[in-house]
Amino acid sequence: MKTSDSFELNLIYATDTKIVRWLKTKSEATPFDARYAEYFEDRDTERMFREIGGRKKLNALYKTQGGICPYCKEAITVEKGFRIHTVIGGDFKERKFLLHAACHRFIHYSKNVDEPALVMQGL
Ligand SMILES: [Zn+2]
Ligand SMILES: [Zn+2]
Repeated sequence: MKTSDSFELNLIYATDTKIVRWLKTKSEATPFDARYAEYFEDRDTERMFREIGGRKKLNALYKTQGGICPYCKEAITVEKGFRIHTVIGGDFKERKFLLHAACHRFIHYSKNVDEPALVMQGL
């Protein structure tokens, strides 16, 4: 079995066993407030996790990135947890990245991380 196949199977397994419970409703969150960017990305990730089409997109991202987190360059696994991170490029196109949940958190909370650097890598 190829790595990417087992990633997709793990997504399905994780959904079926209902371990996807990292979200609570934040009624005050709005998509226009930068402070809540992470919250909305979490919702995005969670929705993709639940839907078959979403899992296919996650798997496609995983394959595009070669199964590697663009931030720490280590393998992404369902068990470690992951998040979708959205970057608007210079051409105003949205690019989505699959990152470890921990790396994603770090990017949002560290002022030293240059987000466009991810885009520069051509992922
Ligand atoms: Zn990482
Ligand atoms: Zn993000």
